[in-house]
Amino acid sequence: MGAARPRVDLHTHSTASDGTDTPAELMVRAGEAGLDVVALTDHDTTAGWGSAAAALPQGLTLVPGLEISCVSTLGGRSVSLHLLAYLVNPDHPPLAAELAALRESRLGRGEEMVRRLRAAGHPVTWSRVEELAAGGSVGRPHVARALMDAGLVPSVEAAFRDEWIGHGGRYWVPKVDLDPVHAVRLVAEAGGVSVFAHPLASARGPVVGEEVIEAMAEAGLGGIEVDHPEHAPEARRRAAQIAVSLGLLATGSSDYHGTSKPQGLGAETTDPGVYAALVDRGTGSAPVRG
Ligand code: AMP
Ligand code: FE
Ligand code: FE
Ligand code: ZN
Repeated sequence: MGAARPRVDLHTHSTASDGTDTPAELMVRAGEAGLDVVALTDHDTTAGWGSAAAALPQGLTLVPGLEISCVSTLGGRSVSLHLLAYLVNPDHPPLAAELAALRESRLGRGEEMVRRLRAAGHPVTWSRVEELAAGGSVGRPHVARALMDAGLVPSVEAAFRDEWIGHGGRYWVPKVDLDPVHAVRLVAEAGGVSVFAHPLASARGPVVGEEVIEAMAEAGLGGIEVDHPEHAPEARRRAAQIAVSLGLLATGSSDYHGTSKPQGLGAETTDPGVYAALVDRGTGSAPVRG
């Protein structure tokens, strides 16, 4: 145990999706950052779990997780949202099938964005995007880096503006995502605990109303992220209130993506008591202690 009070970061990305550290590098860095517990939560995949577990430094605990792409269509509005899932059984057939479909949709949608960019004369290639994705879940950050390599944008951030691939932007193409209530049930069936990621991060695009969070809570949602780098103080206050009123765990996490995002590992953390409650509820897989 590094410190008297364990430091718990429940949301990180590796090269299994849109992070820039391999799962093994991520574990080493998490140890160096003084974390005691780190969850690996790649987008729509559990592919990094094995190599992360194999690289755990002594004293660091890995919580196997993932972040499931969802879309809420309640009230005729289409809002994308992310559901963190911890301690699921990765071989639960319905979950594994849905995740495979989500990754497939990411591929086709990535190719379509590149096709539209090329049709408009921008010199990005699908092979470069594939190379950047390195066999992991393909995401907009890979397309963003290809745009950067081609000298079309100065940063990954800049590619997320409306002129490029930001939500609803000129070259943005939606993916086929899961209904959040269905996803919450699926995670529970797979023995996992679900946490609504960055529910009020409005700079990324529209966020859902509280009625969606209520419906997810009724379906078995375990918690919501309160402390997140993209939550302003007011968003944190509101998220904390929602957690209390719906009886949900309130987590905090960095959402580390390596060099794709500014925040470091452990930039936000989860209360150790909340972490213990979360582990108590997960039965599909177990934390791995290095
Ligand atoms: P995708 O899942 O392919 O739609 O891509 C969404 C991912 O892009 C998120 O998980 C973030 O990692 C990243 N992202 C979203 N908005 C931004 C932004 N404004 N700047 C940089 N990265 C972003
Ligand atoms: Fe991401
Ligand atoms: Fe997310
Ligand atoms: Zn994330």
